[in-house]
Amino acid sequence: MASAIYAGSFDPVTHGHIAIIRAGLLAFERIVVAVTANPSKTPMFSSEERMEMVRETFLGDDRVEVDSFGGGLLVDYAAGRGVYVLLRGLRPVGDFDGELQMAAMNRNLAPGIVTVFIPAVDHFFVSSSLIKEVASLGGAVSEFVPEAVERRLRAKFAPPS
Ligand code: ADP
Repeated sequence: MASAIYAGSFDPVTHGHIAIIRAGLLAFERIVVAVTANPSKTPMFSSEERMEMVRETFLGDDRVEVDSFGGGLLVDYAAGRGVYVLLRGLRPVGDFDGELQMAAMNRNLAPGIVTVFIPAVDHFFVSSSLIKEVASLGGAVSEFVPEAVERRLRAKFAPPS
């Protein structure tokens, strides 16, 4: 069965990520969304919360599995799961260089694993950090994230009562 791993921080998941997963499902039978605990970033939402938001989004769709990826090399995690495709979204602004570098490094580390890029189409200007910034300033983000995510963002930034 052809599976792919889509790893990221998903802090929080956006319609940009969701579009990549939906497009990925056209090519792969199963997508494992690997939520990283990325120690180099300090996430706003806990690993559990970030996983929960992705799970809520794909509730009832057993083609999407949500897992946590706690560290180590992504290629080792993938090989350990018997998955040989890493899915990445590619936005026109800023993603290309870093993504290409990472894909080339991963290919060198694990020649049996390939990175597949899916171009961002509609939400290419959306990033989790920009969403958090807009939400923190009181802006509406309902167009860019699922309702449950918007609710959680509102709760995070609600003035103390
Ligand atoms: P990371 O911390 O690895 O950047 P992200 O959660 O930000 O994790 O993103 C994971 C993947 O999703 C990356 O390949 C990134 O380029 C892609 N991505 C993020 N936002 C979008 C978007 N709006 N449209 C398409 N791809 C996106």
